[in-house]
Amino acid sequence: MHHIAILPGDGIGPEVIRQALCVLDAAAQRFNFAYKTHFAPIGGEAIDKTGKPLPDETLRLCQDADAVLLGAVGGPAWDHLPADKRPERGILALRSALKLFANLRPITVYDALKDASPLKSALLNGGCDILFVRELTGGIYFGPRGRQMKNGVEAAYDTEIYSVDEIKRIAHIAFEMARKRTRRLTSVDKANVLDSSRLWREVIDEMAFSYPDITVEHLYVDNAAMQLICRPTSFDVILTNNIFGDILSDEASQITGSIGLLPSASLGADRKGLYEPIHGSSPDLAGKDLANPIAAILSAAMMLRYSFDESQAAGAIECAVDAVLKHGVRTADIAGSNPTVGTARMGHLIASELLKQQ
Ligand code: NAD
Repeated sequence: MHHIAILPGDGIGPEVIRQALCVLDAAAQRFNFAYKTHFAPIGGEAIDKTGKPLPDETLRLCQDADAVLLGAVGGPAWDHLPADKRPERGILALRSALKLFANLRPITVYDALKDASPLKSALLNGGCDILFVRELTGGIYFGPRGRQMKNGVEAAYDTEIYSVDEIKRIAHIAFEMARKRTRRLTSVDKANVLDSSRLWREVIDEMAFSYPDITVEHLYVDNAAMQLICRPTSFDVILTNNIFGDILSDEASQITGSIGLLPSASLGADRKGLYEPIHGSSPDLAGKDLANPIAAILSAAMMLRYSFDESQAAGAIECAVDAVLKHGVRTADIAGSNPTVGTARMGHLIASELLKQQ
């Protein structure tokens, strides 16, 4: 029995999570596994109920569960709160408490959706399927920071620090992922300027000796930003530190045509993971049955693959999404001038396709 903490969150979070659970249910029927859900509040909902974006009880539930499936948090109702009390704090605190240091973001352009990409379709010939492996708990977002005077004027600083061990543990995941894919790894840094990046590159080069089957390429982050647009199909696994991954994976997400398609997994040393769409709570769409649930559905598929070893079920969900898109089913974000379906209908059609495939 897999125990899953379900944190629907705010805005479109509950709507897309409902569809992820509908598809998970179909996968459990088809692949004969059992799971139990445990719901808890996070973000704005949790602030309204308890005054905290991550209540102790929610954290305890997540610690006890085998995996966490999260919708999204945030919204205008909580925008006035100070930074450390806002809904988004809940997710950061959860990642940190569960020691989730590796963020995986697959960026896949579906053949059926090539026209939804802002890139010319010729640039996508051959298929674009990138996996970002981003370090999540170190670097400049967590290094020493503060304010001080500089030449008599107020100044502020943030510090990028990575230890060899921190680089090794994230690189290890990236090398292993590359091994399961097409054995190509691009490591992104700024080693022409930053000491922390020079250490990063040294560690990757040393580790590459233990992975002779993986082709390693180094790119400076500014060049990587350009190459992602010029030759997106040439990448397989892209390994980054925290800040470079934050920026580059958002850039790459645009290649797919909609943020509503993209899942993510945050993993730690054990098999427990936090799975969530990369989009936010999208208050403009909330409660209107307009959100694309595919990112949440594919996040559930990642949960099956990485936390529960149900790779067949995960692959079948991904195939069902692909098939439904090939049949021309579209939510508004990916429809162009074509007819659209709502959030619930998209989820229902993916679940039906999954059961039909057996
Ligand atoms: P957003 O991702 O919610 O929305 C950005 C744009 O993408 C909007 O136009 C939205 O309509 C569209 N969009 C997002 N998800 C979609 C989906 N599933 N289907 C169709 N279209 C979709 O980002 P934002 O507008 O910058 O932020 C809204 C709120 O979400 C803010 O409070 C922000 O802090 C929060 N946020 C939360 C997370 C998270 O929970 N992990 C991440 C980012 C932003």
